[in-house]
Amino acid sequence: MNSPVYKKNKSSATQNTCTLCAPLGASVVFKGVENSMMILHGGQGCATYIRRYIIGTCREPVDIASSSFSETEVIFGGEFSLGKAIDNVIAQYHPEVIGIATTCLAETIGDDINGIIKKYNAKKNTGVHLIPISTPSYKGTHIDGFNAAVYALCDFFAQPGTKENNVGIFPGFLSAADLRHIAEIVRSFKLEPIIVPDYSQTLDGGVWKTYHSIAPGGTGIARLKLLGSVRSAISFVTDQVNDAAGLLHARFGVPAQYLPVPIGVKATDSFVDTLKTISGREPDSVLVQDRARLIDSYIDGHKMVYNKKTILYGDAAFVSAMARFSCEIGLCPVCIATGDRSASLKKLVADIEWPSAQKPHIVEDADFTDILELSRTLNPDLVIGNSKGYQLSCELGVPLIRVGFPIADRIGGERILHTGYKGSQELYDRIVNTIIARSQESSDIGYGTY
Ligand code: SF4
Repeated sequence: MNSPVYKKNKSSATQNTCTLCAPLGASVVFKGVENSMMILHGGQGCATYIRRYIIGTCREPVDIASSSFSETEVIFGGEFSLGKAIDNVIAQYHPEVIGIATTCLAETIGDDINGIIKKYNAKKNTGVHLIPISTPSYKGTHIDGFNAAVYALCDFFAQPGTKENNVGIFPGFLSAADLRHIAEIVRSFKLEPIIVPDYSQTLDGGVWKTYHSIAPGGTGIARLKLLGSVRSAISFVTDQVNDAAGLLHARFGVPAQYLPVPIGVKATDSFVDTLKTISGREPDSVLVQDRARLIDSYIDGHKMVYNKKTILYGDAAFVSAMARFSCEIGLCPVCIATGDRSASLKKLVADIEWPSAQKPHIVEDADFTDILELSRTLNPDLVIGNSKGYQLSCELGVPLIRVGFPIADRIGGERILHTGYKGSQELYDRIVNTIIARSQESSDIGYGTY
């Protein structure tokens, strides 16, 4: 039996959106490129909105420049102001790379940023790499902007070369802790990961002794160039339009491997098996022990999680991975929702074996009003998603397990580990303990029923 697909009332406006804006995704990607800056072509408010979300989750300084539209640019176009913004950013930050993403306004007036950048380069020849990314938010989400920026970087920098021990990793929008852990797993197979983007330091760094106008860290130009000669490109991304691994395959013959985000035993096994094949090595004892501990904890906690009804939401690739993980540990997803429009969530979850004969509702292009309306009829025990779902969890009177992005109402959002056996273990413990705490709260004797 197919999953019921919730039909959104298309005549109604989106309320309390389940996604963020497209240039936000592109801005996060450029935080993962060494010595780079981002300029948003459009109004200043967009840069403020985006900075608020990134800083709210990562608690690190995040500078995003703007071509700062006024009425003049809206009427006559923003070529002059974009040129000025590029000049200013080069003078103040001295970057090697500048990403230039369009806001809704620049897209609406039809500014040709490719043409503007060509003209700018012809006139000034600064030596700074200027990379345009079209990110209309009325057409796409933060994930579309993220994937478009990763694609643009590969398209711009990747070059053919001699194959060495490098593996290209396109992780999608994960936490800084996830990026560090994924790199650690790849290196345990004696392979060198080229992660695009890698904001594991820039968005989760230490204390500085001296001020840096651009945070240290990120994947540098030399490594981006090597993407054309990696032994394999591993992608956890489901976007078929901005498919960076597909680009490397088509242009340089790099084998492209598409895997689910490695959350849970099965999905992490797929990642580990792929690395085994590429490297010809067995997983090291740390990975083997992490896996064994995770399975042991599933046995310990299964009676607490079994059949607990769960609402899941987030971007399509991430939420489908969370759905797989939920089923693996015995939770019963009753609603799986995404604000994405371009990736078919229904297809991504089609092969999941649901624990109950009652299939979950799959909601695409969802907002929180849709999710709440549906969830009220489903009597859930838990909500799992980013901090934008806090109100949803309050309305439903059930706990929220914070995962994904943004986590703007807690500290440490950038340090939440979701991936690998280790990250799955942390997630599992948090889920089980939340269920136990809830049971304990309603107990007269101070203990749960477990
Ligand atoms: S106007 Fe568009 S680009 Fe600017 S913040 Fe809003 S959604 Fe994002």
